[in-house]
Amino acid sequence: LLEHGAQDSGVLAWPFYAIDRCRITIGNAVSDAAEPWRQPSMAPSHFDVIVVGVGTAGASALYHLARRGHKVLGIEQFTAPNAQSSHHGSTRIFRTAYAEDASYVALLQRARDGWLDAEAAAGCQLMHVTGSVHGGPAGCGEYRGALQACVAHGLPYETLTAAQLQRRHPGYRLPEGYEVVWQPDGGFVLAEASIRTFVGLARQAGARVVEQAPVRAWQANEQGVTVQTDGRTYRAARLVFTAGAWTSRLLPPLARSLKVVRQVVGWFDGPVQHFAAKHFPVFTLDSPAGKLFGLPQWQQPGFKIGVHHHRGQVVPPDAPGSSLDEVDVQMLRRAVQLGFRSADGPLLSSSACLYTVTPDEHFAFGVHPQHDNVVIASACSGHGFKFMPLLGEIVADLVESRPAAVPLDLHGLARLWPRAA
Ligand SMILES: Cc1cc2nc3c(=O)[nH]c(=O)nc-3n(C[C@H](O)[C@H](O)[C@H](O)COP(=O)(O)OP(=O)(O)OC[C@H]3O[C@@H](n4cnc5c(N)ncnc54)[C@H](O)[C@@H]3O)c2cc1C
Repeated sequence: LLEHGAQDSGVLAWPFYAIDRCRITIGNAVSDAAEPWRQPSMAPSHFDVIVVGVGTAGASALYHLARRGHKVLGIEQFTAPNAQSSHHGSTRIFRTAYAEDASYVALLQRARDGWLDAEAAAGCQLMHVTGSVHGGPAGCGEYRGALQACVAHGLPYETLTAAQLQRRHPGYRLPEGYEVVWQPDGGFVLAEASIRTFVGLARQAGARVVEQAPVRAWQANEQGVTVQTDGRTYRAARLVFTAGAWTSRLLPPLARSLKVVRQVVGWFDGPVQHFAAKHFPVFTLDSPAGKLFGLPQWQQPGFKIGVHHHRGQVVPPDAPGSSLDEVDVQMLRRAVQLGFRSADGPLLSSSACLYTVTPDEHFAFGVHPQHDNVVIASACSGHGFKFMPLLGEIVADLVESRPAAVPLDLHGLARLWPRAA
């Protein structure tokens, strides 16, 4: 009798893939051939660390933990990567002139080193430098914040008027009176390709990954942790939650602090000589149409643009619906018309994704208040992807009870966890 079980996608690491999804039952005895490492002769079913959610933070956590010698298992409800959570859509902005808070610059510098290390380890390019543009109407917060970050950290930058920017980068046609900070180190990183790369590196370092296996329940005590998927129980000494938009489903006390918001982006047809990566720096801009972000054409036709938080629609994480309605499209087109008129052609494609948002829009890292063997990490609030290589390092430090290598004062879990819970 053959029965399909959870798919272990360790195709590269394990030559047993031919029997990877089979469970063999003889009489009442079950030999779990689906996961050869569960057989006593091959490896124990007990891990050092289980990571729940193999997305942006989870894939990086797996890599760093495995590299540090931990026997680690990643459990993902869909595939790694997937188009149902927060990391799809080809590209993500990387910028160092951070208006959110100047303290991010130290995190960004370490993240940049991490991207370079991952590229060297995997032998592929994940980061593309285009320069970045930050600003809006004279005196706006985005301009002031980016300028402050550049000055405070001695980053190279120039300030430009709308006309000067358009002369350099004709894709930009910002209204008269807009002013921007141009920073040469910004650019973009690949989205799905980075998840794939970190999962591959983690596997090479010995990590196991189980896909299509939603975690339904977990327990922790001083002896260790137990994690249940449909029909399986996994055990480990420690547990890490990197479940993105589903975090508060697994950790209900966080439900009041973590809002899941629908975020839409569109790809608009625009001339390649304006919107190809070598001509078009990434941007974040304040505007009457909202806080806009955008990236050059890459891998799929069209210039990519979105409005941060879009319509502010709070949604359940598994709400169906990647399709856009008329209001969505109008919002995106207004953004294009405001500053990128040569791309005011057809909307070529679009996508809806999920932001997990904290009240102050910083991240969440910490140890569970009741279980010191459970770590929680959410690189959330719509700007976490660029930190991917650093996220795993932070998780690994928390798992090992080491001080983090970067300041995390803004991102502590305590501010999000209700006092009474
Ligand atoms: C449209 C859009 C544009 C963005 N642009 C940028 C940008 O330009 N720059 C930037 O830095 N950031 C950007 N972000 C933000 C960034 O992508 C996210 O902050 C980041 O991807 C979040 O990472 P995560 O690991 O928390 O979540 P995810 O990458 O979503 O990973 C969570 C994983 O956990 C899995 N999971 C959840 N529950 C379970 C369970 N019970 N069992 C098993 N698995 C589970 C999910 O399926 C998922 O794969 C953008 C986000 C969106 C949506």
